Amino acid sequence: MAQQEFSIPSLMNRLGTEADAYQLLEELRWGADKADVVCPHCGVIGGHYFLTPANGSSRATRMTAKNGKVSERRVWKCCSCRKQFSVLTGTIFHGTKISVRTWVMVVLEMCASKNGVSAREIERKYDLTAKTAWYMLHRIREAMKQDPMAGLLRGTIIADETFIGGKPKNRHADDPRQRGAGFSDKQPVLALVDFETREVRSRAIPDVTAETLRDEITPQVDIEHSQLWTDELRAYRRIGEKFNSHHTVNHKDGQYKNRGATTNTVEGYFSQLKRSLDGTHHHVSVEHLNRYLAQFDFMYTNCKATDSERMVRLIDNVAGRRLSYKPLTGQA
Ligand SMILES: [Zn+2]
Repeated sequence: MAQQEFSIPSLMNRLGTEADAYQLLEELRWGADKADVVCPHCGVIGGHYFLTPANGSSRATRMTAKNGKVSERRVWKCCSCRKQFSVLTGTIFHGTKISVRTWVMVVLEMCASKNGVSAREIERKYDLTAKTAWYMLHRIREAMKQDPMAGLLRGTIIADETFIGGKPKNRHADDPRQRGAGFSDKQPVLALVDFETREVRSRAIPDVTAETLRDEITPQVDIEHSQLWTDELRAYRRIGEKFNSHHTVNHKDGQYKNRGATTNTVEGYFSQLKRSLDGTHHHVSVEHLNRYLAQFDFMYTNCKATDSERMVRLIDNVAGRRLSYKPLTGQA
């Protein structure tokens, strides 16, 4: 499919009806010729499907639902298992009362905003309840999460840690030996950055001990074929020995470059993360931090892509990542 450029106004024009929004999602997920349709029930790829009702134009797909309301859902039927599905089935968009038009618009808003969009902003702009707006943003963040099958990072890997919450203070000025203990009000976050590709993987971690750093870094990095750049934190030493080489920079002395090694890249990532957590999102609970981190990883990793390209990448990830309200809020 030829690359399309989306903007908020152009999308608003294009998405006149719900059926238009369904069609756009179908194009993005399955290709313009629907060659990549996968039946979410039986898994048949590119099999025979037909629209029900038969004509796919927006007016013809209008049907009257049981409650008497006109529905513009585009429903497909699988010729293999005879079950019905739509482009929403099994995705983060499934099973909500939010219009597909609103979903598509909010996805683009998220992909277009470096510092993130606040739930309050979306609530006002799209006339939603606060709960719905909040829920939508978290579902979209799910689709921004890194592919669980993603390969190992390899090459020059920068590892750096930061603390979210609590007093704004430069942790790097502290005694390194004290870090990782006694900061119960602050949540440690570890970021791994591939220096060449700028891919970022960050996660909230329980502490910054040598054991935790080893457990976090080992499954993510092809250690034997990589070099590690970190700050002077002692806890990196043991895992650093397993790398091809380990370069450190000493923040304490204001030294930001050492033998070509720099952790400035991660510093930039962290400062942007903190700016938006402070400015855009007023309260970030710890349990949602990893989802926010997924959002910032996605934006940073895809920072050279256009808003539209990011949107296409996100739409690629919407399947199999449903998030129901219960695990999201921790309600029983
Ligand atoms: Zn099927």
